[in-house]
Amino acid sequence: MKMQVYTVENIPLIKEGDDIASIICENITIEDNDIVVIASTIVAKAEGRMFRLEDIIPGEKALAIASKHDLDARFIQAVLDRSKEVLVDHPIFLVETHNGHVCIKAGIDESNVDIGYLADLPSSPDESTSKIGSAIEHITGKKISVILTDTNGRAFKIGQTGIAIGVYKIHPVKNWKGQKDLFGNTLEITEEAIADEIAGAANLLMGEGDGGYPVVIIRGLELRAEEASIQEMYRSDREDIIKKGLRSLSKV
Ligand code: GDP
Ligand code: MN
Ligand code: MN
Ligand code: MN
Repeated sequence: MKMQVYTVENIPLIKEGDDIASIICENITIEDNDIVVIASTIVAKAEGRMFRLEDIIPGEKALAIASKHDLDARFIQAVLDRSKEVLVDHPIFLVETHNGHVCIKAGIDESNVDIGYLADLPSSPDESTSKIGSAIEHITGKKISVILTDTNGRAFKIGQTGIAIGVYKIHPVKNWKGQKDLFGNTLEITEEAIADEIAGAANLLMGEGDGGYPVVIIRGLELRAEEASIQEMYRSDREDIIKKGLRSLSKV
């Protein structure tokens, strides 16, 4: 088996209004079944989702959380504005965004953004991903998938990794239930988070710094599907025992 992973060269610094699909297609030849992996930072920039702390007035809750941290209360307010729930407010600031993604500080990011600005995650990552994916298909006539990524930490382990926050035409989870192992045993619980695995592979080439590689093409996997959503990855509140445990911690 073989899978190839390519960076897309010559992507410029992305500005508000830039057409990411066209920029990708101008810089690489797309083939059927390619998985185009895109760092959320450039989508946020193209969508104009940058903001400045100067424009934010912190409320009471933000001030209370800020007093526990070495963080600007205006930044805390920005995170609260983008969150449907605070799961842990200190010593880490872990929230669930309105879209259902659980992450530190709502994914607000200062890295690789103009000095003085912060970048949000795209507010509807599946929608942003689908827009870019269908535009690439329209331009190239090829059938592709897209995964939108961000860099996230994980519980229990040191180190961040690329993870998926939006998908277009690829199911984020592969279900192995009912399949056999090498000894003929039927797999009963295994579900593979393929969108995160692909995001992790792509992130190896993107890096986190000044590499300038926000787009990576994965070639050689046959995973294209119709009607996929990142929501397929999110556990329902009822099933999520980790969230239940976190809710029992004291908070502001
Ligand atoms: P995030 O994981 O979505 O927060 O993105 P990162 O800040 O980690 O950046 C991922 C990759 O994209 C790195 O190689 C950055 O250098 C690159 N990158 C970020 N923004 C831009 C941009 O506007 N243009 C180019 N060419 N590369 C960028
Ligand atoms: Mn970044
Ligand atoms: Mn980020
Ligand atoms: Mn990153």
